[in-house]
Amino acid sequence: MAKPGPHTIIQVALPVPLRRTFDYLPKPDTPINLLQPGTRVKVPFGKRQLIGIIHGVIPHSNYGDDNLKTITGLLDDEAALGPDLVELCRWAANYYHHPLGDVYAHALPTLLRNKDESWEEVTTRWKLTQKGRLIGLDQMGRAKRQIHALEVLREHPEGLHQPLLKGFDVEPATLKALLAKGLLDQHEDRPPRQHWRQDRILAESPLTLNEEQRYALQPIVDHEGFRTFLLEGVTGSGKTEVYLQAIHHCLQQGKQAMVLVPEIGLTPQTLHRFQNRFAVPVVSFHSHLTDRERLISWRKARNGEAAIVLGTRSALLCPMENLGMIIVDEEHDLSYKQQEGFRYNARDLAVIRAQKLGIPVVLGSATPTLETLQNARSGRYEHLTLSRRAGDAMPPQFRVLDIRQKALTHGMAPELLAEMESRLKAKQQVLVFINRRGYAPVLMCHDCGWFKECPHCDHRMTCHANPAHLHCHHCNHQLAIPRYCGNCKSTDLRPIGMGTERLEDNLTSLFPKFPVIRIDRDTTQRKQAMAKHLERIHSGEPCILVGTQMLAKGHHFPKVTLVAVCDIDAGLFAADFRATEHTAQLLMQVAGRAGRGVDQGMVFLQTHQPGHPLLQTLLSDGYGEFATELANERRLMGMPPFGYLALLRAESQDPRQASQFLNQVERWLQPMAQPFAVEVWGPAPALMPKKARRYRFQLMLRGEQRPALQQVLKQAVKKIEQDAGNRLKWSVDVDPVTLD
Ligand code: ADP
Ligand code: ZN
Ligand code: ZN
Repeated sequence: MAKPGPHTIIQVALPVPLRRTFDYLPKPDTPINLLQPGTRVKVPFGKRQLIGIIHGVIPHSNYGDDNLKTITGLLDDEAALGPDLVELCRWAANYYHHPLGDVYAHALPTLLRNKDESWEEVTTRWKLTQKGRLIGLDQMGRAKRQIHALEVLREHPEGLHQPLLKGFDVEPATLKALLAKGLLDQHEDRPPRQHWRQDRILAESPLTLNEEQRYALQPIVDHEGFRTFLLEGVTGSGKTEVYLQAIHHCLQQGKQAMVLVPEIGLTPQTLHRFQNRFAVPVVSFHSHLTDRERLISWRKARNGEAAIVLGTRSALLCPMENLGMIIVDEEHDLSYKQQEGFRYNARDLAVIRAQKLGIPVVLGSATPTLETLQNARSGRYEHLTLSRRAGDAMPPQFRVLDIRQKALTHGMAPELLAEMESRLKAKQQVLVFINRRGYAPVLMCHDCGWFKECPHCDHRMTCHANPAHLHCHHCNHQLAIPRYCGNCKSTDLRPIGMGTERLEDNLTSLFPKFPVIRIDRDTTQRKQAMAKHLERIHSGEPCILVGTQMLAKGHHFPKVTLVAVCDIDAGLFAADFRATEHTAQLLMQVAGRAGRGVDQGMVFLQTHQPGHPLLQTLLSDGYGEFATELANERRLMGMPPFGYLALLRAESQDPRQASQFLNQVERWLQPMAQPFAVEVWGPAPALMPKKARRYRFQLMLRGEQRPALQQVLKQAVKKIEQDAGNRLKWSVDVDPVTLD
């Protein structure tokens, strides 16, 4: 086998915050074919040993061939990340201007990032050496256990694996002693990979598709090669059934499928639907897995043993042996964008991954983002539509409740309460949505108006009742409830406004005969808590569900016939240019929980802005028309999808440092960007100017063309990296989804 020549240099990407690779020499006896990109290596770095990924092999180092260090060792016989994933990571590092080592790290489970262990499953087989076979047992003296081990192994000339030896009462310590005497040696075995059976893919028969579903499925399964499909289907229209049948087709070709969902813990139903439908192995990635479980799932995806991978954002970077289709459910969901560190968008990377592999990708949603709709309208994506609910369910009816000058009971209008009462009496379920957890958004002094701000953020602290405390939802800082006003010492402190906890209390006293189930981050933190709540809801008993957007996502609650949105006004006037889009998406998703069973659903919206034009369009003409109007506004402003954005953020504990730094950047960036027709705005304080003790500023870059914006960013990031050094925390966010 070829050995590395005098000019074999390995470029290694390391988990350090630098946008470069590091050159090392291979060990002299390493077969050169093992030096594949995507292979993990251990290398000396300063005084530490780090695990990195081979990025490439080159004949000469750009940093000079002298003084290069030699790697400590190769950790994989077969690259942990296959060629397609290496290419995807390179693309992503380049596009998001993020350090390559950290991008690769996102593709590895924790145990492979930090430990020397092989990604492949290995079991140790113990076998007698020549000496061990020939030695007379009388020569072993009184070492009874060792004699027993030798006897066992003489019965098994091929050797035995550790677990079997345990069954024969042979302890690891005995084996080590015999190893030291040269009587045994160890062999590392890799168990054969168990590919799934292509002759038995289904565990239950598929539903008979309705006409719209058939029209949607056909182009997906007929198409060969890369293509992006937008499956726009109203809530409950049977998108999941289309995914299931498209995947079936993909598996029939012997290829794996990947399904991304916003959150698995919240919607175990989705996972069950996949597991029930298919007889082939489905592995899932979610936040409740242990590191060991995550490694096992990852390995099955990597070596082809898993037929379907179902996971949240990070699953997109899971290597797969033979991926044939990607599905991104609820493509509009904000959770697909990572909001710190490596700020990638899994939905967008899914399209890139599919393109590089030459396979179809399906983006599904009832409320697609303006970006995706624009791509569909311009013909880059193929637009498939499901306009009606599947089965017999009817679309929900909307009713706008003008609450101006109305006498409200605990924030709810009399019509709403009456409707709730009659639905509950008819043994139906009611869902009350409010996107604010805690008891009340503020605890205020009734005498002077004082309230407690978070000492670390520019934000008031939320009042929680159970357990009673003040809580900052931005940095998690917690304080005891103050006994008197921090300004006038009055003891008359009152909770103002409504959160989920308070609503739960109020509804319990208004409807004492019916259980109130609250679902928000505070009531679902413990493992299985969500499952318990869901079980109760699915039992079908009449009850009231109170909750945040956690209740909006993908649930199928057939007994819910009334959905009430207490207050949508906040979302209509937020400062972020995407706020209206997000509010509309959330509203349609929540509304989509109503009337999914036999009884028609109704949605009550309480607002002080019944005439708001976008709200009118949304309710009378639907999300598509709403999106068109919003897109026209964006077009006039040159905002996405009619222009491309990036944010350069900086933050510091010193109130001036970050803004001064960005001021300097702005001065050289402005002339650099101008020839590319890229505008630079700012620096300006972030929407939340102070968070977790840090003052935050941002520069916004806007370009008409993506490549031009990319070129400017490339130069800018390079220079900022040099200038900022370790002094300052800064980051770049390409295609930001919030301006916060
Ligand atoms: P979506 O994913 O679009 O919200 P689902 O796939 O969850 O919709 O479908 C909503 C309900 O309709 C589910 O209970 C599902 O079993 C049912 N359903 C979907 N397709 C069909 C069909 N072709 N015939 C009968 N029922 C269907
Ligand atoms: Zn805070
Ligand atoms: Zn006061």
